[in-house]
Amino acid sequence: MKSRTSYHTFKTDKKMEFINITRTVAEEVEKSGIKEGMVLVNAMHITASVFINDEESGLKEDFLKWLEGLAPYDVDRYKHNLTMENNAHAHLKRTVMGREVVVAVTGGKLDFGPWEQIFYGEFDGQRPKKILIKVLGG
Ligand code: ZN
Repeated sequence: MKSRTSYHTFKTDKKMEFINITRTVAEEVEKSGIKEGMVLVNAMHITASVFINDEESGLKEDFLKWLEGLAPYDVDRYKHNLTMENNAHAHLKRTVMGREVVVAVTGGKLDFGPWEQIFYGEFDGQRPKKILIKVLGG
């Protein structure tokens, strides 16, 4: 079995932001030379997510609004913020949106359903944070 592991760093301009990373993942699959297998993509920080959904600007705004309803940025609301941090809301948002995705690789390509795209979801940004991409197969 072959494998290829890479790390990619993002530093978002905004505190919360979604970045479409589909091309980055597809490039790593190509570089791996793997034709049949799978690729794991995960955030390496507990206030960021990797998830699959649609590249549609209205929907991305809907996600942010929905997450703000579930876990609003409100420093006094959370016990976690009694520590040195004020990012409890970001931990909660990350958990809802998930840590990682696994996508099948078929014929050397990402084997997506219709409209599927891979996103990095940042909830406590403006600092460098990493994702891991691991391609496995043969
Ligand atoms: Zn924290």
